[in-house]
Amino acid sequence: MFVRDLPVSAAVREQYRASGIEELYPPQAAAVEAGVTRGENVVAAIPTASGKTLIAELAMLTAEGPALYIVPLRALAREKYESFTELPGVSVGISTGDFDSPAEELGEEDIVVATAEKVDSAIRNGASWVAELACVVVDEVHLLGRPRRGPTLEITLATLQRRAPGVQVVALSATVENPDAIADWLDAELVESTWRPVSLRTGVYADGDVEFDDGSTLAVDVPPVGPNDDRGTEATAALVADAVDDGGQCLAFVRSRREAESLAARLAEEPSLQERYGGGPGRGAGSDGADAERGAEADTENGADAADPPGPRLAAAVRERGGTETGRRLATAVESGVAFHHAGLSSDHRSLVESAYRDREVGVICATPTLAAGVNVPARRVVVRDLERYTGEEMTPLPVLEVHQMCGRAGRPHLDPYGEAVLVAADDPGAVRERYVDAGPEAVESQLTEREALRTHMLSVVASGFADSKRGVLDLLDATFFAFQSPDVDLSGLVDEVAAELSGMGLLAVGGGNAAGDADGSDAPEGALSATDLGATVSRQYVRPETGARLVEAVRTIESMPAADVTPLTALGAVCATPDTRGTYLGNRERAAIYRYATQHAAEFTTAPDEAADFESWLCAVKLARIIREWIDGAAPETLVEQYRIGPGDLESHLERAAWLLGAADALADTLDSEVSVFASVREDLAASTDAEGDRRRRP
Ligand code: ADP
Repeated sequence: MFVRDLPVSAAVREQYRASGIEELYPPQAAAVEAGVTRGENVVAAIPTASGKTLIAELAMLTAEGPALYIVPLRALAREKYESFTELPGVSVGISTGDFDSPAEELGEEDIVVATAEKVDSAIRNGASWVAELACVVVDEVHLLGRPRRGPTLEITLATLQRRAPGVQVVALSATVENPDAIADWLDAELVESTWRPVSLRTGVYADGDVEFDDGSTLAVDVPPVGPNDDRGTEATAALVADAVDDGGQCLAFVRSRREAESLAARLAEEPSLQERYGGGPGRGAGSDGADAERGAEADTENGADAADPPGPRLAAAVRERGGTETGRRLATAVESGVAFHHAGLSSDHRSLVESAYRDREVGVICATPTLAAGVNVPARRVVVRDLERYTGEEMTPLPVLEVHQMCGRAGRPHLDPYGEAVLVAADDPGAVRERYVDAGPEAVESQLTEREALRTHMLSVVASGFADSKRGVLDLLDATFFAFQSPDVDLSGLVDEVAAELSGMGLLAVGGGNAAGDADGSDAPEGALSATDLGATVSRQYVRPETGARLVEAVRTIESMPAADVTPLTALGAVCATPDTRGTYLGNRERAAIYRYATQHAAEFTTAPDEAADFESWLCAVKLARIIREWIDGAAPETLVEQYRIGPGDLESHLERAAWLLGAADALADTLDSEVSVFASVREDLAASTDAEGDRRRRP
């Protein structure tokens, strides 16, 4: 099937041709046959790089009305937004929380790109554009199986189909064990394929050799390992150097941020990388004759030009974007063409790493597994050094699906003749092969019955008017992936329990004499459910019920506190102690200092340490509140990051969450008709200092 046969505008067809797309890839042709351009529901479970974006675009361009593209991660939203904006004659909006189009404009766009959370929030807030949708595309639908995001996604899909009856649903999935279940649930045609534009071989490394699944082998020259060297790391270094020598780029996956940084420091010592990318011995900026000579035979495919190595330039760009310790380590590594990527990196540095990699200014990124699910960074060779991860209690093996996602990054279309993924298994190659190479990925399983998810979503379906009775809630739950997968599970008892919990929190009113046994004096008929004013606010503010209940408690405590004790720390302490705050880590040495700080400021907090259910998390909340307070008082990000040993990216996300939760607390105070105004004022101060920081950075 050819692009010229597609039922899209001539301008779009021209645009495709200009970007090198003439003939559809087989899975794309199969999606068209399945009716993706005729409004049919389609689930495409196909590998990375097999052209899912085009399938989505065909659905959205041929839909008779506006389309919504749901992404799991903000970083992906930006990427998709930019690529859809290139389509001629199409207007695109974005709703993710950071570069948002104004809410009222979203209704006028042909395509809206949004995270599932933003769509959920738009539905709860009654956004009218939702009902107008003709097409919904869900990217990475296999994330239905993830603990928090999954339930949000399935409830969102179930409610979207009600709000916009007949809407076309196109779901894009990695190859998983049960795509047929997802397709059946969505009443969709299934397109399933393992076809890839660039072939991929996956192998297991042990004792100097890689054995690939196609039967081929690769001998790897790993120098003798010293007593302080790690075998896996040395093998990874050799595998990366080998691919770089061959003109390829690599991704190396490890289990933690710290490992990503230390592997990067190790790889930066590799002569192959130093020579190609710059800052290595004798390869500095002032190039001599030998450099010029080598420049002439530079491997331009690799983007590294020996006469003008990209390393030093890139290092300067990294330093310009912030002088934190992490930034300095990154700058040193990129001098030699090595980058690292993890959630602790500032968003500026993260996007710089991604674009430098795409421009082939670095040869390798050392990353935590989050990169595998994220942005588009294909590699000649993917090396997975760590196949286990610390969960806070123990080391557990990575899910097969996650490892396959990492491996799937291998093979850059139009650049590599093939892609290679190598799993480093220094200890037990047989077991690694069996688990990750021979066997398929896990099935996707609904996580909806997680108590916390059910509480959140039950409140929201009642508050947003989708259900006004237990029966109504059950009807909606019936349309979820969970009900599809477990038709025999009786959710009725669970719904009663959750209704009682929400009613105990003051968020839900349950009609008299009902099975929840929680007659709250209302005259409403048995089984009737309605959100209280507080419940409605909690749902609209998009905080968890527990967060809402705790913030209400904090507002009431503040009302009874002497005015002199109510300070910014009071508001920050309260929001940082909610389950919607990301946790932080408390070092041993730090613990005493934070405890001292907490004692000094005890009168300002809404909870005393002995009232806290969990002393350790209470201390963490104090630490976070202190960090944000110092930020508001003008502390530089570099100082905070160093002093409290958090990543620059963590600081960004803590500040953002605090702003959101302060807003929610203020809205709850309003709902309570309370005079408490400290949440609003701290939120304003926080916004002002964040703007001031932006200004400070923009100044040359
Ligand atoms: P994924 O399935 O991972 O989302 P993409 O949609 O990003 O993959 O496609 C990967 C690359 O393949 C893109 O660079 C895209 O332009 C290119 N591509 C997609 N379809 C075709 C095609 N039919 N012919 C040639 N190149 C294509």
